[in-house]
Amino acid sequence: MTDTKYIFVTGGVVSSLGKGIISSSLGKLLQARGYKVTIQKFDPYINIDPGTLNPYEHGECYVTSDGHEADLDLGHYERFLNVPTTRANNITTGRIYQNVISKERRGDYLGKTVQVVPHITDEIKRCIRLLGSKKQFDFIITEIGGTVGDIESLPFIESVRQLRWELGKNCFCIHLAYVPYLAAAKELKTKPVQHSVKQLQELGVQPDALVLRTEHTLSENIRKKVALFCNVAEDAVIESIDAASIYEVPLLMQKEGLDKIVLQKFGLPIDTPSDLEPWKQFLDKMQQATEVVKIGLVGKYAELPDAYKSITESLHHAAAYNDRKLKLELIHSQQLTDQNIAEKLSGMDGIVIAPGFGSRGTDGKFVAIRYGRENNIPTFGICLGMQCMVIEFARNVLGYEEANSTELDRNTKHNVIDMMEEQKGISDYGGTMRLGNYECVLDKKSKAFVAYGKERIQERHRHRFEFNDRYRNEYEQAGMSCVGINPDTKLVEVVEIPAHKWFIGTQFHPEYNSTVLSPNPLFIDFIKACTKK
Ligand code: GLN
Repeated sequence: MTDTKYIFVTGGVVSSLGKGIISSSLGKLLQARGYKVTIQKFDPYINIDPGTLNPYEHGECYVTSDGHEADLDLGHYERFLNVPTTRANNITTGRIYQNVISKERRGDYLGKTVQVVPHITDEIKRCIRLLGSKKQFDFIITEIGGTVGDIESLPFIESVRQLRWELGKNCFCIHLAYVPYLAAAKELKTKPVQHSVKQLQELGVQPDALVLRTEHTLSENIRKKVALFCNVAEDAVIESIDAASIYEVPLLMQKEGLDKIVLQKFGLPIDTPSDLEPWKQFLDKMQQATEVVKIGLVGKYAELPDAYKSITESLHHAAAYNDRKLKLELIHSQQLTDQNIAEKLSGMDGIVIAPGFGSRGTDGKFVAIRYGRENNIPTFGICLGMQCMVIEFARNVLGYEEANSTELDRNTKHNVIDMMEEQKGISDYGGTMRLGNYECVLDKKSKAFVAYGKERIQERHRHRFEFNDRYRNEYEQAGMSCVGINPDTKLVEVVEIPAHKWFIGTQFHPEYNSTVLSPNPLFIDFIKACTKK
C-alpha cells in the first residue's frame, strides 16, 4: 500500500468502554485481510510512563520487549495482533511535554513563545506519525486514552482535528460511546451518545463511524436515530454488545462490518478474503472446553483483576490450548494464614504467586507457597512470586528462619534475595529497573527446558532484586535448583524443585509474552501439569 492509513479511536460518555479491545479487534480484522497493522496508545496523564503508577490507578503495568513500562492496552494489542509493540507505541502527556521542554532548553524554538498550539500539538502529531514514517505498516490505529470532554485530553483531540486535514483521505475516526439501558423504562437511551458526539464535533472532529457499547441489541430505529443526529452513515453505526470473552469481539465486529466500513472509506477493496481461521480455532477450543482447571492466583490486588491482566490472559490461552475451561480465583494474599490455607487452596489444581513490590501481603504468599510445595500442587511464582519461593525455601527447608529479601527487610541476616549490583547507585524510580528482554539459558534436565523445548529463551523483566548467588550451592543440595541462568550476567532467572510435580519460579515475566496465536510455553506446561491427576 502506498500511503499509511491512520485510524483514530476516541471514547465518550464513560471510561472503561474497552477502546483497547475495539482497537485490537479492528486491527485483527485488517490483519486477517493481509494488511500490516500496529496500534498505539496516547495517554493524557502527566506521568512519563505508567511505571511509577500504583495498580489501583491504571491496573497492570505492561512491559514491551524493548523495556518500556507501558499501559495495559499494549498487552491487548500484542495478544490480538501477535506483533510486538515498542516504546513508540505508548506516549503520555508527560513525554510530550518532556520532549517539548528539552527542545526549548536546547533553543530549538528560536525565541518563539512555546504554546500548547502549535508546539505541544506539533509534538503529539510527530509522535503519532512516528511509526508510520518507517513505512512498515499499512494501518496505524491510534487509541486516545480518556474520555472526550476531559480537560487533559484536549490537546490530543486538537491534534486529531489537525491531522484530519493533513492526512485527508488517509484518516478515519471512530468514536466509541455507551448506550445505557434504563430498566424502569425498559429502554436504551441514545442521548448520552448524541451529546458525546456533539462534544467531539465542537472540538472539530466528525467521527466516520460510531461503535456503540451496549448490553442489549440495538434496534434498527436506534441506529437510524443515532446516524441522523450524529452525521454518520447508518451502516457506520456499529453495535458492540457485551461478549462472554474479549476474544469474541473481532468476530462480532466483523459481523457488524466494521472492517468493511473502514476499507470502503479508504477506497480499498472489501471483497478480499479474510483469514481468521487460526483465531476461530482458538475460540472454538476455548468455548468447547467443559472440563474445568481451577487456578488460585495469590496476590495483594485480588479485588482488582486489572492488576494481573497479562497473567489472567496467559492462563486463559494456556487453558484453551489444554482443552480446559479456566476457573480462576483471585485470592487475597493478606487474608491467608496457616489456619485457613487448606480451606482456601485445597480445591485448587494449581497456584500462581503474583509479582509485586513491597512487603504487603508477602506473609500470605509464603503460606501459600509452603502449602503448594508440601502438598505437591503445581505452583508457579512470577518475579516477586519467585523471590518469595526462594525465601520460603530458605526459611522452612534450609532453616534460615530470618531469611528475606533486602527489599522487604533491609537488615536481614540471610539476604537470599538481594538488590542487583547495578541497581545500587540508582535513586530515581521511573524507568530504572532491569526492564525488557534478556536471554536465559535453561538446564536441559529441567522441567522449564521441557516446557520451552529449547535451551535459549528470551523473556521480559521488571525488577531490582535478584537471587543471591552465594546461597546457590545450599539450595541445590537441599532440592531447589537454579535451572535458568542469564548467559552474560549469570543472574538466576529460573528456580525449580525437581522432585516436585511442578514448582517453578521465574525472575522474568512470561505473561508479557503470551498471545492468542503464540501462547507462552511455560503457562501451557503449568496448566498441563495442573490437569494431571
Ligand atoms: N519487587 C521485586 C523486585 O523489584 C519484584 C518485582 C516484580 O515482581 N515485578 O525485584
